[in-house]
Amino acid sequence: MITKEYIKENTRYNPFNFEEKIYNFWLPYFRAKTKSKKKFIILIAPPNVTGSLHMGHALENIILDVIARYKRMLGFDVIWLPGTDHAGIATQNVVEKELKKEGLTRFDLGKKKFIQRVWEWTKKYGGVILEQFKKLGLSLDWSRKKFTLDKKYVDWVQKAFIVYYKKGLIYKDLRPVNFCPRCQTSLSDLEVEYKESPGKLYFIKYPLKDGGFVTIATTRPETILGDTALAVNPKDKKNISLVRKIVLLPIVGRELPIVSDLKVDPNFGTGVLKITPAHSLIDYEIGLNHKLPIISVISFEAKMNENAGEFAGLDYLICREKIVERLTKENFIEKIEEKIIPLPVCSRCGTEIQVVPSYEWFLRMKNLAQLAIKAVKNKEVEIYPHKFKKPYFDWLNNIKDWCISRKIWWGQQIPAWRCSNCGEKSWRISLKKPKIKCKLCKQSKWEPTNEVFDTWFSSALWPFAILYTKEEKKWYPANLVSSARDILHLWITRMIFSGKFFMKKKPFDIAFIHPTVLTKEGKRMSKSLGTGIDPLDLIQKYGTDVLRFGIIWQLSAHQDLRFDETPLEQGAKFLNKIWNAYRFYLLTKESKKENKNKPSKEDQRILKELQKTKKFVFSKIEKFELGLALKEIYRFFWQEVCDKYLESWKGETKNSLKSLDLVMLESLKLMHPFLPHLTQLLYMALFKKVPLFREKIAS
Ligand SMILES: [Zn+2]
Ligand SMILES: [Zn+2]
Repeated sequence: MITKEYIKENTRYNPFNFEEKIYNFWLPYFRAKTKSKKKFIILIAPPNVTGSLHMGHALENIILDVIARYKRMLGFDVIWLPGTDHAGIATQNVVEKELKKEGLTRFDLGKKKFIQRVWEWTKKYGGVILEQFKKLGLSLDWSRKKFTLDKKYVDWVQKAFIVYYKKGLIYKDLRPVNFCPRCQTSLSDLEVEYKESPGKLYFIKYPLKDGGFVTIATTRPETILGDTALAVNPKDKKNISLVRKIVLLPIVGRELPIVSDLKVDPNFGTGVLKITPAHSLIDYEIGLNHKLPIISVISFEAKMNENAGEFAGLDYLICREKIVERLTKENFIEKIEEKIIPLPVCSRCGTEIQVVPSYEWFLRMKNLAQLAIKAVKNKEVEIYPHKFKKPYFDWLNNIKDWCISRKIWWGQQIPAWRCSNCGEKSWRISLKKPKIKCKLCKQSKWEPTNEVFDTWFSSALWPFAILYTKEEKKWYPANLVSSARDILHLWITRMIFSGKFFMKKKPFDIAFIHPTVLTKEGKRMSKSLGTGIDPLDLIQKYGTDVLRFGIIWQLSAHQDLRFDETPLEQGAKFLNKIWNAYRFYLLTKESKKENKNKPSKEDQRILKELQKTKKFVFSKIEKFELGLALKEIYRFFWQEVCDKYLESWKGETKNSLKSLDLVMLESLKLMHPFLPHLTQLLYMALFKKVPLFREKIAS
């Protein structure tokens, strides 16, 4: 790959000639050893098959790779398996967009053909993201790629559902859920985004049965058709006297009670809230407390349904206009205010979310949350930095049951069956078509419910569901996982209780919640906002080692990273400095073959410095302070090795060649986890033709 002559002849290091070749040289050595006592297991956060590499991936996985290589050099057998997530809605949307160009919808194709299309897409493009991961120089075991739709993985997911069911933790319920009318599926709270949008606040007067009016404020007047009560906060002195009075619903004329409930925000509007249990999650809960009826007036398509009377069939926005017109004419409108409102939108497609009642599967969370709370409280699992423990506990202490079903086609099928005669009222859970008869109609006309799991239900099982073979099954639990903070609840928390529940053991020792990469100005990086930086562009400009240098240089465990390109230029200079230092070393060695000196004072000094630097670097790596570790390496190599020690080799010297060998070898090892390609290249040319991460670094 490279000769000593090449090094002598070239005063500049060109990463583009070597990085890919070196990566290919490493590949067989990344494989996990199946028989080993001293293991270090890392979990990858599987990227979506639809994904393409962004700075968040780069940061997360470069951190893990530095640690992986460091652990390997301490004598651990590192197990780090790559994989991807099928990313239900995201992937389905990509293929639906393709179909749209052909003038088709998924319904035109039908379920079977559509899923075929998604598989074709996945086979063609699903591997792209992992190929991009390779460009980061990651020491992953590519012989064991995992995918959340591998047969064995799907088996685990379905089995998990059945086990939960048998333990009484699964139930089916008609409940208002966040529903995307475009994706035609329910979404969890975490999949809903809020977009500040101009809207209106309508103040509507509800006549009291005994005379007079009560005014409520709403941004969605079309939902009044589903009102079943008004509510006030019991601490709201201004409105408390209204409790137990009756109002008449405008237009409809239905009698509604006024109830009191602590969940009412007395500061919103007039302090009196209209309660529409079918179309609001809070109203639903208030409705439960007061046993209010649920009247659904909006359909899954965001149209008014048969309960909307004369408005049935209208799109909700058109209905809103018509209702406001009617209310105005009949003098029920007190005033209308312009207002910026947080509009709930689908995080996948941006369509406004409707809250509609839907039959969905729920996982009871109370006891599972306790498992996760305990695991962190008694320090089985460490969440690092510790500041993330508070949001972790807060979320778990206020947990709601988890809606785990999605009404889309691409994903792991929920093993549930519905009686085609009796509908949602009659269902069975089993992997195979039930043999018994429906209790209601005494027939056996079971059909699959055509629901899939929330992808996070599946990725919650990742730490053990990826272990397919007998050998692999020994790789639980893992030692380390790292993730962005925005999936702390979506993923990390859920892996913890899933692991405790199914494996009776924590899934990992440490979850490192890494900083977020922001723009230089501190803004969110986003492709659509044009503020994103593509790591592949930087690799093309500087090479992988320099990208790694630039990212790690700016990394601190506790603060977000405002990404600046300047350190990459500094990194490129540093790589060249290293190159020339080893070039000088090579020439010196050849010209001073006869040197049999004993270690000089200068030798002793540098060896002591080296020891000190190592100790510092190791301690910082253990604390995820890779930025500080790299800066110390940089200082040591540039100032101590190059500026002082190598200078002392120019001309006559009392230094010992053996010490020089040792300093240059140990420095190379120390730099390897951070700058793997260049250090490997020099190691092959000047020392041994074996992977440098297989060599031990003495601590
Ligand atoms: Zn959507
Ligand atoms: Zn039936």
